[in-house]
Amino acid sequence: MPELPEVETVARSLRPHLIDRKIHAFERYWPKALHDVSLPAFRKAVTNQRIVDVRRRAKFVIVVLERGFVLVHLRMTGKLYPLPEIPPKRERNLISCAFVLSDGSNLIFEDQRRFGRVYWFANQEELELWSQRFGPEPLEAEFTPHWLTHSLAGSKRQVKPLLLDQEFIAGLGNIYVDESLWLAKIHPLTPAAQIPKAKVKRLHGAIQEVLEKSIRMNGTSFMNFKFLGGYEGGYTDELLVFGRQGQPCLRCKREIVKLKVAQRGTHICERCQAAPA
Ligand SMILES: [Zn+2]
Repeated sequence: MPELPEVETVARSLRPHLIDRKIHAFERYWPKALHDVSLPAFRKAVTNQRIVDVRRRAKFVIVVLERGFVLVHLRMTGKLYPLPEIPPKRERNLISCAFVLSDGSNLIFEDQRRFGRVYWFANQEELELWSQRFGPEPLEAEFTPHWLTHSLAGSKRQVKPLLLDQEFIAGLGNIYVDESLWLAKIHPLTPAAQIPKAKVKRLHGAIQEVLEKSIRMNGTSFMNFKFLGGYEGGYTDELLVFGRQGQPCLRCKREIVKLKVAQRGTHICERCQAAPA
């Protein structure tokens, strides 16, 4: 499932393809592709509008139009990429929808599992209202050690499920939470309020470190970035603990184990990340 670095990679890669192109038409192939907006209303809203920017908020790609915003939530298997031609009907059973652009190219939303959705916000106020549902962006100025200390101290929850909660902090998912907790030597079941201050500071640094590193490497490779010439995200080879069950801990050589926490496969070193008392 794409997390912050993968969605950021998609947004950055699409920017040069999309900026200054106009949307000529919109084709919907999967009836549920649009979230909370009818096909005629969506078509009317986006057609003939120029794309002015491509950004990210939480795990959403935001295509900024002259008037309004198209958001794409990739969810489990969504892929968003430009393509010279829309594939013929028999070859597009994985494609949820497509935007036809003014230069003749297309922006394709492919989604094997069909959980992904396209959103429409008519103005900045609607976008802001939506955006307020999410916690701070971990790579923005609002995410400070002070904020994290204060927020963890005020929570009754265990740290891993809390960090996965998009209302608490935006953009983190299973991979980067496991990576960050290993770096900060915190067991995922530790009650958030019981984490000592020094470790919270380390966790803050760890979250930023793994996200920045992964963005630099175009994310983790379960995403096949077709538009980068089949290039796969380079962070896969850098994973510290995620997916390394059965292999030695990179710090202490103890075997990494896989547990279930909050229904999610969770990778830890039981020596570096001592269980809460
Ligand atoms: Zn270890």
